[in-house]
Formats: sequence, C-alpha cells, structure tokens
Amino acid sequence: MTSVRGDLVVLRPEGLYCPAGDFHIDPWRPVSRAVITHAHGDHARPGHGAYLATAVSEGVLRARLGSGIALQGLAYGEAVTINGVRVSLHPAGHVLGSAQVRIEHRGEVWVASGDYYASGVDEGSERNPTCAPFEPVRCHCFITESTFGLPIYRWRAQREVLAEVDAWWRANAEAARPSLVLAYTFGKAQRLLAGVDASIGPLVVHGAVEPLNEAYRAAGVPLPDTVPWVRLREGGKAAAAQVRRALVVAPPSALGSPWARSLGEFGDAFASGWMQLRGARRRQGVDRGFVLSDHADWPGLQRAIAATGAARVIVTHGYEAVMVRWLAAQGLQAGAFRTEYGDEEGSEPGGAEPAGGGPEAAAAASEGGPDAPLRRSVPAP
Ligand SMILES: [Zn+2]
Ligand SMILES: [Zn+2]
Repeated sequence: MTSVRGDLVVLRPEGLYCPAGDFHIDPWRPVSRAVITHAHGDHARPGHGAYLATAVSEGVLRARLGSGIALQGLAYGEAVTINGVRVSLHPAGHVLGSAQVRIEHRGEVWVASGDYYASGVDEGSERNPTCAPFEPVRCHCFITESTFGLPIYRWRAQREVLAEVDAWWRANAEAARPSLVLAYTFGKAQRLLAGVDASIGPLVVHGAVEPLNEAYRAAGVPLPDTVPWVRLREGGKAAAAQVRRALVVAPPSALGSPWARSLGEFGDAFASGWMQLRGARRRQGVDRGFVLSDHADWPGLQRAIAATGAARVIVTHGYEAVMVRWLAAQGLQAGAFRTEYGDEEGSEPGGAEPAGGGPEAAAAASEGGPDAPLRRSVPAP
C-alpha cells in the first residue's frame, strides 16, 4: 500500500514503522527501538537496541533473545509516550503476553494487531483460556493479520475438538500406546495441556515444551502437571511404562526423530489450524489432525475488525488479497503491507487443497498414499 503523508504506521524495509514516534513494530531487521507484540520468533527478533513489550511476556522474551536485552515491560492498558506518541498494549488472545499495539497521535488512533485469536461466534467458551482474551480497541485504522483469512476457515467449538483429542488419547491408552501430539511449543502446547482431560493418563512433554509450561505457570496460568520424557525415562522401567498411557506433547520437528522413536510404538497427531485443509494431515504423515488454532478464523477476523470501528484496514501476513477484496466490498478503505512474518503454526497452505474439506474430510482422507510425508520448515521456537 502506498504510504500517505501523516500515516501513523508505514512500511519500511526493516518492518512496520511509526514515523511520528520513530519506532518500529515487530521489525524483521535490527532497529534502535522496537515495540514487540509477542514472543514468537517471527515477531520478536534479536538485535534491536531497545524493546517494549508486555511485562507478562518478559520471561519468554528474555529466554529467547537473551537475558541482557534492553526491555521495558508494560501492563496491559498502561501507556507510555514515545516522542509525543502515546503507545499502549492490549490483549490479543494469541499466546501468553500477546498484545495489539495502540498508537495515538494528535487525535488519530491506529492499532497494529500482531497475531490474534478472536472467535467469530462466542467470547465465553471460545476464548483462549491460557492468556488474556482479545480486547477490541476502537481505532481509525486497524492493521490486521490474515493467517486464516479465507472463508473456508471456520473453527469448530473448542470443547468438541478437545473431546476428539480425549477420545483418541483414551483409545490409545487402552491399547497401551503413547499418544504423540505435535504442537507448536509456545501457545498451542499449553492450550492443549490446559484443555484435555488429565484424568486419562500422564501428560508427558518434549524438553522444548516444559520451559514454556513453566513460563505460563509463573504467569499464573493454571496448567496440569507435566513431566518431560527424558526425566520420566530416568525413573526406570516402571516409570517409563507410564508413557504408554500418556498424552505426549512435542514440537512438529520431533516428527520422525530418534526422540520420537524412543517412545516405542505410538499413535500420532497434529494440532493446527491447517488441519482443516483436506489432505494436510496426510501430507504430514500422521494418524490424526486436530483443528486447533491460536489465530482467528474467517468469522473471528471479520468480527474483530468490525469491533474496532475502523474505517481503514491494512492487512498483513496471510491471505492479504482475499481480505482486502472483502473489506473493500464492505465499504472500508483497505490495503495491505507485505511483511516478513511467518507462521508459527508450522505449515503453509501453498499447494494444498482449500476445498472446504473440514476435519471430517481430513479424517476421511486415505492413509499413506503416494504423497511422501512433508516436512515443512518450522520457524525456530
Ligand atoms: Zn504468533
Ligand atoms: Zn505471526
């Protein structure tokens, strides 16, 4: 989108930039002052001179970027003034500490969403229980993500999806084989752990997941007890046998690894919004796909955008063209920023089959087939 004189946020080679305040938002190249929406690797990068983020994300940010970074933590809603521009952070419902950035200057208000999870149907049962829920913020211009910005993406009720996970886990436990769920370590893993029925069996995690669980617990988010597989194995044969009734949560990179093989024979599944695509599970080469996302689906995006009251919307990472067309048809001034944000859900829809397949179609997709399991690159946690 061509930048207009007076715009509060413009696109620069380093990332989104606020000229009036002389700071960047989630820049992908090193800058002197960065406002960070959340601690996923594509939004929070190393090398910036100074960081501003939510206080609750501070632990994860320092663990990932170094304890010595110059970081100022803000409470949600707390405001600071940077070169005359008022900046505050508001819950995005995506992961622990995730925020939208509200920028106010001379009566003009812009909000940059970062990644967000907002439901299109209900805010109670459908909120993300592991972090502060998405808060609509009124603004003149809303910069929105569009990871799942296609009409085919409509999430089912979380409790239905989690009941499917429980049923699959219970059946595996009764057959004495571990249930390995591949889920992104920061956000998705905790969402799963918080939502499943922990009475079915032990919750075992990959070593990359436990530090994030600890960060959530330290922030006061209740999670059931979890034990890293390496520690359980040290307990001898009897302890290790417990894994056969366990739900095991590991990052997607564990698929096919020696670590996974050390679990013995197991059932495996992927938990991701991409599992709604027919064929996605089959291409990942796992038994099951559970549609669970930390991003808004199509109705969630529409509802969140409407709630801002913004007359102007700028779309970032995802299905920009589709979203821009839809927004323009609603009478909004719409444009896009080409960003370098990735997708921490671990897969990309490119070349996939967005045919409205839904989880039923994914579950019905034939086993194996000619498609070799696809190992998509996953941004480093
Ligand atoms: Zn994210
Ligand atoms: Zn993102």
